[in-house]
Amino acid sequence: MGTYPAGHIDRFVEVALSRGVAEVGFTEHLYRCIEAGPVLGRWWERDADPLLVAEMEAWVASERNLSLARYVDVVLDAKARGLPVKLGLEVDFVPGTEDAVLELLSGIPFDYLVGSVHWIGAWNFMRDSAAAEFGRRGVRRAFEQYFALETSLAGSGIVDVLAHVDVIKRAGLRPDGGGTDLYGPVVAAAVRSGTAVEVSSAGLRHQVAELFPAAAFLERFRAAGVPITLASDGHMPEDAGWGHDAVVRAARQAGYTTYLRFDARRRIETPLPVWVDEPVSPSP
Ligand SMILES: [Zn+2]
Repeated sequence: MGTYPAGHIDRFVEVALSRGVAEVGFTEHLYRCIEAGPVLGRWWERDADPLLVAEMEAWVASERNLSLARYVDVVLDAKARGLPVKLGLEVDFVPGTEDAVLELLSGIPFDYLVGSVHWIGAWNFMRDSAAAEFGRRGVRRAFEQYFALETSLAGSGIVDVLAHVDVIKRAGLRPDGGGTDLYGPVVAAAVRSGTAVEVSSAGLRHQVAELFPAAAFLERFRAAGVPITLASDGHMPEDAGWGHDAVVRAARQAGYTTYLRFDARRRIETPLPVWVDEPVSPSP
């Protein structure tokens, strides 16, 4: 789309508020911003597979049509109009670009930054065409590579929150044994760097039909004292705040009683809503 039409932000907020969400954080993708070009570089070119390289090159060319400056203006304008919004950004992790990313973002009044792994080298494992590459590479190896990157991101300390921390499971593929042995290093790295983790309903909208992170993963974060945020990862207004009840319920089931909100990169510890524990419909 490349632009933020008038009223776009307002519609996200309207829908989210109707679902019991009090505040909406916007986290545009960094890689989609023109300004990110020189900062993230052409990371895909280091991959040995020419087909994946060509695919990623075309993908980035088609998606990189946003202005970071314009995005920031639009969210700040919504704030100035009194809407309950936060200025965030989703930093797509490219190892080795941490300092350049921080430099690009310094001076912008972000409330919070989330970080995510969307690709392994030149492989965008979130695309529909990813199934064939899972087959070639092996699901176990793909998970190992993904979690190694996620561990680096978690340890980097460049973001406040890890977004969709186990998104590699999105298409519903699992290594033998589930891959739960890969959780530990991510949790430990988040503890070391003081990074929080997002509980997101987005996974419920994909084949895996499960929250990010999985219940067992979230329990590991909770046991290690890693705080959470609440997210729907809505890319369109109708998804804003979608699955909020499920997110809060999962957080409570994992033993959390609070979540974090952010203001100017400062954490605000906030009690989890209690209303979701009340029955929503009469029992049959
Ligand atoms: Zn993402």
